[in-house]
Amino acid sequence: MSPDHGRTQPTVTDRLVQANAEYAAAFTDPGMDARPVLKVAVVACMDARLDLHAALGLELGDCHTIRNAGGVVTDDIIRSLTISQRALGTRSVVLIHHTGCGLLSLTEDFRHEIEAEVGQRPPWAVEAFKDLDQDVRQSMQRVRTSPFLPHRDDVRGFVFDVSTGLLREIDPQR
Ligand SMILES: [Zn+2]
Repeated sequence: MSPDHGRTQPTVTDRLVQANAEYAAAFTDPGMDARPVLKVAVVACMDARLDLHAALGLELGDCHTIRNAGGVVTDDIIRSLTISQRALGTRSVVLIHHTGCGLLSLTEDFRHEIEAEVGQRPPWAVEAFKDLDQDVRQSMQRVRTSPFLPHRDDVRGFVFDVSTGLLREIDPQR
């Protein structure tokens, strides 16, 4: 089975691979193609407390989930959304930030500290923020103004409360 690297304790990845074997044993081919059934792409933070499928009532095959630190709309998120819309037929975009996000406690100093440590400046911005609502608005704006996206009329933004499980919608105009 898995290669033995001389460890006695299984690693976390070993545990995941074991769980997958059980998953696959009970799996039946759903026979779906790659186009999301609900024609929606959800952009969200990678936070471990955010279970998008459970929180939004989503089933396998319903949506694209595109995640990064903060759920911020970077060039790479635009790349994924462009492929999602142009090649795989999605039309709606849902943006989700959340309370207690790690990016609320970071600043661009994070980048400078890395540069001081490794002698090379990361080419990316940290995209840290102090105001969740304002960052959701900025993210909505970045999607709505992207020339690459053919569908920009149904873009909504939310903050997910990790203590109540509830979404709060952000007014894009404020
Ligand atoms: Zn987060």
